[in-house]
Amino acid sequence: MSKKYVYLFHEGDASMKNLLGGKGANLAEMTNLGIPIPKGFTVTTEACNKYYDDDKVIAPEIINEIHHTMSQLEAATGKTFGGEVNPLLVSVRSGARASMPGMMDTILNLGLNDKTVEVLAKETNNERFAYDSYRRFIMMFGDVVMEIHKKDFDAILEEMKEAKGVHLDTELTAEDLKELVLQFKAFYRSQKGTDFPQDAREQLIEAVTAVFRSWDNPRANVYRRLNDIPSSWGTAVNVQEMVFGNKGDTSGSGVAFSRNPATGEKKIFAEYLMNAQGEDVVAGIRTPSPIEELEKQMPETYKQFMDIVNTLENHYRDMQDMEFTIEEGKLYFLQTRNGKRTAQAALKIAVDMVEEGLTTKEKAILMLDPKQLDTLLHPAFNQEEMKNHPVIATGLPASPGAATGKIAFTAQEAKERHEAGEMVVLVRQETSPEDIEGMIAAEGILTVRGGMTSHAAVVARGMGACCVAGAGAIKVDEKKKTMTVNGKVYGTEDYISLDGSTGNVYEGKIETVEPEISGHFGTFMGWADEIRSLKVRTNADTPHDAAQAVKFGAEGIGLTRTEHMFFAEDRIFIMRQMIVARTEEARRAALEKLLPMQKSDFKGIYKAMEGRAVTIRFLDPPLHEFLPTHPEEIEELAAALNVTTDELNGVITDLHEFNPMMGHRGCRLAVSYPEIAEMQTRAVIEAALEVNAEMGWNIVPEIMIPLVGEVKELKYVKNIVVKTADAIIAEQGAELKYLVGTMIEIPRACMTADEIATEADFFSFGTNDLTQMSFGFSRDDAGTFLKHYYEKKIYDFDPFAKLDQDGVGKFVKTAVTLGRGEKPTLKLGVCGEHGGDPSSVEFFHNIGLDYVSCSPFRVPVARLAAAQAEVKNPRKK
Ligand code: PEP
Ligand code: MG
Repeated sequence: MSKKYVYLFHEGDASMKNLLGGKGANLAEMTNLGIPIPKGFTVTTEACNKYYDDDKVIAPEIINEIHHTMSQLEAATGKTFGGEVNPLLVSVRSGARASMPGMMDTILNLGLNDKTVEVLAKETNNERFAYDSYRRFIMMFGDVVMEIHKKDFDAILEEMKEAKGVHLDTELTAEDLKELVLQFKAFYRSQKGTDFPQDAREQLIEAVTAVFRSWDNPRANVYRRLNDIPSSWGTAVNVQEMVFGNKGDTSGSGVAFSRNPATGEKKIFAEYLMNAQGEDVVAGIRTPSPIEELEKQMPETYKQFMDIVNTLENHYRDMQDMEFTIEEGKLYFLQTRNGKRTAQAALKIAVDMVEEGLTTKEKAILMLDPKQLDTLLHPAFNQEEMKNHPVIATGLPASPGAATGKIAFTAQEAKERHEAGEMVVLVRQETSPEDIEGMIAAEGILTVRGGMTSHAAVVARGMGACCVAGAGAIKVDEKKKTMTVNGKVYGTEDYISLDGSTGNVYEGKIETVEPEISGHFGTFMGWADEIRSLKVRTNADTPHDAAQAVKFGAEGIGLTRTEHMFFAEDRIFIMRQMIVARTEEARRAALEKLLPMQKSDFKGIYKAMEGRAVTIRFLDPPLHEFLPTHPEEIEELAAALNVTTDELNGVITDLHEFNPMMGHRGCRLAVSYPEIAEMQTRAVIEAALEVNAEMGWNIVPEIMIPLVGEVKELKYVKNIVVKTADAIIAEQGAELKYLVGTMIEIPRACMTADEIATEADFFSFGTNDLTQMSFGFSRDDAGTFLKHYYEKKIYDFDPFAKLDQDGVGKFVKTAVTLGRGEKPTLKLGVCGEHGGDPSSVEFFHNIGLDYVSCSPFRVPVARLAAAQAEVKNPRKK
């Protein structure tokens, strides 16, 4: 049997998300639950993938199947698609596996043409409504399918309103709208050279194609990269019988959340507009009314609405985000999905739902995207300072956080100024999906129009960006690049500050303070810790970072980069003396000066970690990062070394490497100059002995040798470490256990991990270098050309941010198998950047690592990701 590409709603269910997309699967599920939804069908994600495989054409068999299913829909609704009696009109909407609000395209009122519009006018006895629907359809079809700018249609509409002397679209009469349709069609013809298509089936296939095409539009691509959604998922297309919220005063459209998406409060949160289509609510064209007003207007409908919202939340056991339409008093739900929410709301909802008995801790853990925790860990305004800044306007607290920056009036400008190093706040009349890159670049987003469910609010919440929406007192002039409030004019050089939790907009730049973590966060993360088996350590090079990480729940240090301890001005000089030393004696003299510094740093770090495990990695400097480049620096160093600048320049030239990332770094330095390893061993061991004695602790330092590719190399350096350490311990008559392990960050080390394991107490995967060396991409330069790979869909993600599980992951897996095969007790961790990336953490859990290590601010993210990995694939007994 040939593959099925189109499903009527009742043929699917919630489990078919991958095939039907989130929206399609939920429409199917709602159909099965008996919720009043308009009938329809879903064209699958596989059809979308086939469209791309077939070079962007829809295969004839899929077109036939769509037409056939449309006939079934006609039979089910008793209406005729494109027919001259009882015409069937449909919406065509995208719906990927993961929701991507506003990123792809939607077309409403499809099936209208010059004839059906007349029929519709007659049958509904509402000419105004029919022509209003038709003009909307021409505009959406022109914009989405034919790529005619929407703003050109808007301009025609604005001209018409001006000519008629009205302000609102709703004030235009049926005659006005008829005329507008003629103008739109004429404009369409002038742009495309053909008439607006009259054949409903042709309209449908064009629209489905346009939705498939929109999967690959720039804003969808940006959104996918930001949210780890692979392009291979494709989007489904939902074709659904239209119901109309713009049929008059007993019709309306709205958006609802089963709990408050900003605070998590257990209270239905919904907004609606009477006599409007759904797009009007989301676009923020008019400011909607709270749902409570519906109770006064239509008590029966209100009650039914509340019942359905509760049913859906209880069914999905998660906060739902729904769209609904009331058509002449009759209520329909158009979609439901798990709602996007702020991190604060997500925590409250998860904790409340467990306490309400609606879900389990394990399921609650899965309700939060680990990356969302980031927003809880970011600064808020200094309350004292805030008092000195006037509130110039107030809008809706659409997405919490604090943002301060100079004003940017377009997304493009925000992006460019951000790239030039400026902090900007994006101020817009209202945002639209094309603004996504500017919204990412901005510190915060302020809009003049729109409600809590407007585009700006929804997208900012999803990104965790601070956003104040609908600050109506502000006048924005995009052309002049000014914003006027209460008679005062602000320009691109002026700072404003946004409080996304209160909706206040302040004049000037306000200092921010570190966030406090408590309440729901503590309870929720406590559950994550109970559940997970993968440990989480941190990468920290200073006592301050280490202490911060402990606050965030780090269970130890997985990587201290000792070379980073030498960037401070007073130290880099001595470090340079050590690097350019040409004799062992000169090198030892510099090392002698570095020893007390290292030792006191290590003591500080041990103390900050309060007895937890600390892994200290020996020097791994790509040398070029430390060599002096300015003539004054070279002169100063030459004087200190008692050599001429020419001589020193000669040494620097000798040290020059064509590829320093693959040069004389890591353990290679210790192989050339064992005295470096001796000094570092002394610092690690003496510091541990002193802190143990002082604090009565039992620190077991873990010494880590970087960039090993051959067991003999490790053995050589390890011997120096052991000899030095044992001598110090014996000298002091003390007892101290210590471990010597290695980083695994060279492909050869992975392939010979069984041999390396014979000399190592632990492995820590350095997936930064391992990625660099597996791909042969320079860590420093890949950014410049990887963007071409994303554009051409060769790679979906930056492999330095998200582990390439198929390639680099295979090296890691091989090393795990070989290493543990040789030494079952081998401790395994990862300390590359991937240790804080949720999907990579899941991979490390699945292949049996003991811990991941990441930067302090990512520790909570890793803790949650580790718990989620455990829930999905339990490894605890
Ligand atoms: C690595 O290579 O993954 C690593 C952690 O070391 P560094 O980034 O310091 O090279
Ligand atoms: Mg490395």
